[in-house]
Amino acid sequence: MAIRRVHPGWCAPESGCAASALHLSRLRPAAPRGDEVIQVRAGLWQMDVGRLSPSGVLLELSAGDDPERWPIDLVQARVLVHVLRDLLRVADDAARRAA
Ligand SMILES: [Zn+2]
Repeated sequence: MAIRRVHPGWCAPESGCAASALHLSRLRPAAPRGDEVIQVRAGLWQMDVGRLSPSGVLLELSAGDDPERWPIDLVQARVLVHVLRDLLRVADDAARRAA
C-alpha cells in the first residue's frame, strides 16, 4: 500500500521538497534595507512525515553566498519572539535615556 503524502499549501514551489522531504515556505526577509551585512530571513518548515501543521520556523542567516539555515521548533520560535521583544524594549529604553 502506497503512503499518500500530504503537501502543505504554504510550501513554496521552489522549496525542492520532493527531493529533500523538507517542506519550506517562501523565506521572508528581516533585512529592511537589503544591504545589511548580516541578512536574516525566516520561513516555516515541516518534515514530510505526514503531519499537516508546520514543525517550526527556519532561520536563515547569511553574510555572503553561503547562508546558514537552522530549523527551530515552534516552542523555541514562540519563546524567541518574547526574548527579542524584551531585548528590544531594553535597547529602546537605553536609547531613550542616552538621548
Ligand atoms: Zn512541499
